[in-house]
Amino acid sequence: MNPLRYKSTRGGETNITASQAIINGICQDGGLYVPDQIPRIDISLEALSQLSYQDLAYEIMRLYLTDFSEEELRDCIHKAYDYSFDTKDIAPVVEVEGIHFLELFHGPTIAFKDMALSLLPHLMTTAAKKQGVQKDIVILTATSGDTGKAAMAGFADVEGTRIIVFYPKDGVSPIQEQQMVTQKGTNTSVVAVEGNFDDAQTSVKKLFTDKELQEKMKKNEFRFSSANSINIGRLVPQIVYYFYTYSKLLNNKSITNGEHINIVVPTGNFGNILAAYYAKCMGLPVHKLICASNDNKVLYDFMTTGIYNKNRDFILTITPSMDILISSNLERLLYQLSGNSSEQVTTLMMALAEKGAYKISDEMRAGLGAFYGHYASEEETYFAIDEVYSKSNYLMDPHTAVGYSVYKKYRERTKDTTTSIIASTASPYKFTRSVMNALDESNNKFSDFELIQKMHDISKITIPKAIKDILNAEIIHNTTCEVNKMKQTVIDILNLS
Ligand SMILES: *Cc1c(COP(=O)(O)O)cnc(C)c1O
Repeated sequence: MNPLRYKSTRGGETNITASQAIINGICQDGGLYVPDQIPRIDISLEALSQLSYQDLAYEIMRLYLTDFSEEELRDCIHKAYDYSFDTKDIAPVVEVEGIHFLELFHGPTIAFKDMALSLLPHLMTTAAKKQGVQKDIVILTATSGDTGKAAMAGFADVEGTRIIVFYPKDGVSPIQEQQMVTQKGTNTSVVAVEGNFDDAQTSVKKLFTDKELQEKMKKNEFRFSSANSINIGRLVPQIVYYFYTYSKLLNNKSITNGEHINIVVPTGNFGNILAAYYAKCMGLPVHKLICASNDNKVLYDFMTTGIYNKNRDFILTITPSMDILISSNLERLLYQLSGNSSEQVTTLMMALAEKGAYKISDEMRAGLGAFYGHYASEEETYFAIDEVYSKSNYLMDPHTAVGYSVYKKYRERTKDTTTSIIASTASPYKFTRSVMNALDESNNKFSDFELIQKMHDISKITIPKAIKDILNAEIIHNTTCEVNKMKQTVIDILNLS
């Protein structure tokens, strides 16, 4: 077999190496890079279960990053998963009421985005070296709250890179905002956009393929890349922890070798759950992938009807990282469901861009059988946080609570008792107000600072460094712009002539 390469979901690019795909971020035809074959794991699950997080990461990632040498890849992995995580386990699994919470928030910015974004800068600089890229790489990113901080933390002061983050002005939590506007690093810029996440993400995607901007960039010795989950360098590291969790469950005898598990993922841009799907395709024994949405339930509707329709109100919820109506990574799933038909994907994506909606064929729908989709309302989310804390003293952040709530619905409706893991995507400290309000509405009268202390008092969970760091930090970034001024803002920040 030829070594794995990447191609565009829309057919315009083929035979792209991993390092090229990572540097480019997105394809010039507007499509996303996908591997031209999904590799199968070539060592047993039992052998994997003997490995540390770092070694297991290597065994999975080498199958995708085929033009990285062993030394290069191991070096990147070890630089990423180090003492900046507060546990040697990197992604510990905690059992509560027979459910396994895969805690993905032990990294530097206390959300699951750290799992990939502490690695991406190393992959990107290594890839740039391999490709002999001389120009400075400008990371352009839209964030629903967590990607922005995690990406800046990773890229801050990394030589040869600049990073510009756009976040929806009224669409992130106070702590998420504080984390971003206090970001240090001479190469970081943060801009609040007067719009929602979809507005920001759609504009950023357009900037990547804007011809005039590209000319200006070239003239000024810059090139763009992306730290969003459209970058394959984000997706591949996310596959790792699903295998790692399985290993942990094997080791503590929660499952037997080969036993199937369910994976529940609170979903926004469809990146995290797509990684779980890739893991399944690679040979991880997965029964159902449970896709949990909030009130912006476009994915639930899609899974139940085969119709994707973003023409609806954008609802601001207590799970801002899932407030998304255009789930970018779904394009990669569609590609697979269509039997790798770039024609079909292009037609569907044109319909999405023009009419805001599309309908998939019955053949494609049949492939959705691996998934179960549902959603949790805001009320159900609050209820779940309170229920689990009251019963088991375990404090979930709202996103994780959406996963839990949907899992409960799934279980009630299907009576399926398969061992299940819930991807726990953020620390409760990142959404202190919503979590404390869930426990007791009267907490709403306290300041964010007081609530952090209160959360500590009741939960005894150590206040993470990420929170302590921002409490008295100086506000460095205060730029705001309208959606249609994002291009000019980039030109100004980079001082493009
Ligand atoms: C980004 C994020 C999600 C959604 O992940 P996707 O990969 O976009 O589906 C869920 N929860 C939290 C806390 C996040 O930061």
